[in-house]
Parts: sequence; C-alpha cells; structure tokens
Amino acid sequence: MTTMLESMPGPTRSTRRDPRLDAIRAKIERGERLTLDDGDLLFTTRDIWSVCELADLVRRRLHGDVAFYNINRHLNYSNVCALSCKFCEFYAKANDAKAYTRDMDYVREEVRKAVDSGATEMHSVGGLHPQLPFTYYTDLVSTIRDEAKKQGSDLHVKAFTAVEVVHLARIAKMYKGASAPGEEGRAARREGIRWVLTELKNAGLGSLPGGGAEVFDDRVHDEAYKGKIRSDVWLDVHRVAHEIGLNTNATLLYGHIEQRRERLVHIDMLRRAQDEALARMGYEGAKAQRHEGTKAQRHEEADSGHLGYQSASESDAPVVTLTKPGTPLPEHLAFGATPSLRHSVTPSLSSGYYQTIIPLPFFPDGCELEHLPGPTGLENLRTLAIARLMLDNFPHVKAFWIMQTLPMAQLMLQNGADDIDGTVVWYDITHVGGSSTHQEVNVGTLQKACREAGFRPVERDSLYRPVVRDGKKWTIASQ
Ligand code: SF4
Repeated sequence: MTTMLESMPGPTRSTRRDPRLDAIRAKIERGERLTLDDGDLLFTTRDIWSVCELADLVRRRLHGDVAFYNINRHLNYSNVCALSCKFCEFYAKANDAKAYTRDMDYVREEVRKAVDSGATEMHSVGGLHPQLPFTYYTDLVSTIRDEAKKQGSDLHVKAFTAVEVVHLARIAKMYKGASAPGEEGRAARREGIRWVLTELKNAGLGSLPGGGAEVFDDRVHDEAYKGKIRSDVWLDVHRVAHEIGLNTNATLLYGHIEQRRERLVHIDMLRRAQDEALARMGYEGAKAQRHEGTKAQRHEEADSGHLGYQSASESDAPVVTLTKPGTPLPEHLAFGATPSLRHSVTPSLSSGYYQTIIPLPFFPDGCELEHLPGPTGLENLRTLAIARLMLDNFPHVKAFWIMQTLPMAQLMLQNGADDIDGTVVWYDITHVGGSSTHQEVNVGTLQKACREAGFRPVERDSLYRPVVRDGKKWTIASQ
C-alpha cells in the first residue's frame, strides 16, 4: 500500500540522505578529526539533515541536555576608530555627530546597572581610538571591577578583541620592532602583546571575547578589512593570552566575500591553535592523526597553494579531540566537575584555552558591502553545525542570538550549539535589523527559549561554571 507521503511529489527526507556522509559519521562516532575535504562535503551535500544530526550527536556527547546562557551587559567604551572596515557600521570618526567616548562616571553608572540586574559579566569592546592613552584601558577594567565590588558584587571583565590589544601595544609604544621580518619581528610582537595583556590582567581583565578574527585569509583581509591585523597576529594575541592564563573565545564572520573553503581553513587554523593550548594544559593527543602531514610538508603544500593557506600553521602540537567519547573538557578538569576523569590529565591551570567558537553571520545593512545579500538561514544553520563538527577541540559553540535571532538560536541548540549567550543590554555592534539599538531579553525569555528547544537551561559565568542564583545575588556552584 502506498502511503500519502510516498505518493506526494518532490523529494522526501529519505531520498535526501547522502551515503557519502557515512565515512564522516564513522569518524565522528570514533571521535576522530575531520579533514578539510570532509568539511567541503559537509558544505556541499544536499543532506543538511544529516549534517545537523551529526552536530547534535557531538553536542549531546559533550553537554547532554544542557543549554547555557548568562546574565551580562555590554559596554562599548568608544565607537571612534582609526580604521574603516567595509563590513562595519559601528565605527565613527572623531568629529562625527554619532562619535562617543565614555568617561569613568559613565562606566561606574553602567556597572551599577549591571549589578542591579544581577549580571555576572561586563563585555567591553570598542573602536581603535587614535588619541586615548593606554591608562584609559587599565582604568576602564579596574573601574568595572572596583565599582562592582563597592556594590557588593563581582563582575567578570571580558574585554578587548585581538585587534584592540595590538592597538594598545602600539599606543603604549610597546610594539617596536614588531614589523621586522621573521623570528625577530614575531618575538618583538609577542613581547609587546604580553606586556599589554599582563597590565590588563593585573587591572582585573578576566578573558578575551574573540572578535576581530573575521576570516583568516589574506585575500579577504586585503579586500574587506585591510589595515586590521592579519591571522598570524590575531592568533599570537590569543596564544599569549593563553600563556598568561587567560581564557579566550573565537569568532568567524562569514557570508560576505569569502569562499566556504576559506571558512574551513579559518576553522582549521583555530583548531591547531587550540591543540597547542591544550598541550600546554597537559592534554595528551595523537600525533599520527593530523592528516596534513608534517610541518615541513604543510609549508610545502601551503606554498604550492594546495591547502589554500596564505600562512601555514607553525604548530606540530598533538591532535586533541575533546569530542572523543570520555574525554574531559578543560573546564571540568579545572573546576573538578568530573572527578572520575581527572586522573587522565594533569591540567595546568596557569594556562588558558579557547572556550567557544561564535559563528557570526555578516549583515549587509548600512556598511560598504551593502550590495551583498548576506547568508541565508540554512547557510547559518549549516555553518554552525560544521563549526561544531570540525572544531573537535573547542568545548562550546555559541549561537549568539543578537546576530542569529532568538528563534534561530533555538533551532541552533538542536544542531550543534550549546550556548545562546546572555541578556545583553545595549549591543552597539551590527546585529539583526542593521542598526545600533537597545537589545535585551530577560532571563525568563532565555530559559523559555532553551526549554522549548528541548534543553535544560543552565546559567553559566564567563568561564562556563554553573551559577547558583538568589535574585540579584549569585555564587559559583561548588563542583
Ligand atoms: S570592525 Fe573594528 S577595527 Fe574595523 S572599523 Fe569597525 S570598529 Fe574599527
């Protein structure tokens, strides 16, 4: 007997199944690293159902039915920027009517509002202001920390993209020699970055947000955000942050002039950087698993254009796949949530690591690339799912609801994401709608969104520790 579904025209779900994905499924079930060619197939297959299903499998292996959110507040300290990136509608020049720079009275007032709303985190980024002195930034961090304490609370300061960190090294005159070729320039650059991050950490900086990565590709860089730091410098800032014990996050701004392969290379460069960070923490990985061969071979391939890399990774760190069944996550080791697994690794808590990848769709409205269409909903879903599958050593994948919309973030929870970010009061950087306006949801709305998607909402702090809350008062759950 023919069922009604079978008699209907058009493809059914079963005919969309792509048998070419079986080999990828087998790798994922074993917890093995996917190759860039696997990533190509995940991007081009019509079987998006299986791509999302696989991402969900990995996401549930890592986080079960938990969906994370946080209570936070954004503070954009200034929109004045020396650069003019083509995709940016946030920046202003100093004499523009919309230009602003916040003073410390303003900052203290924002902290009071944050504490009053029960926030655990202040997220602060801004443009590359050509005139502010370095002390403005250490004051900004210490003012947030001190005022929160004065109000009887605490605020984690997650602040400054890698682009801003390098700008601060320049204005502090600690970037001398960084443009020298080869190892000499690299050493000078890292020294300057280390000085800046150490000063900021001493002032109270808790972690780096992960913006400014865009797409790690020199062609895209030169066409869309020339003047910004290149991938090797962005990765260096995060490497130094990890070395001095700061956790960081990473972004991928996609859907503009880049190719999908360039997204994959970006992702691969991030996972190599995370291999290094996890090795510093004491994770043991598999040498043989890296499919691209030795460092020398990779440089050769890069030079020949085979991988499409503009700059091959220096890393020969062992491959660590946190998505392998039974592998403990760094935060669980650090905070003791999985004591039975603690014996397998001796983590160094003085080292930091990448916590989460945040895929950010490009929004054309109001910027120089306005003529581009921007990514579709399915492309957003697929990119996030692929990020989950390829970034096997990143603990978390965030569906940033401000840029994805809350309904889409709900769907993404079912397709690879485990975090939808926070209550986010005032988000001035580009978001859905294309303008800088008040963006906020309350905790009840975030929790409802998670529950509707079939997950158990868990409030986290900036380091992914569960929060125990009594109204505006909160503490970190003892593990
Ligand atoms: S993206 Fe950042 S660096 Fe580029 S113009 Fe905008 S604020 Fe400036």
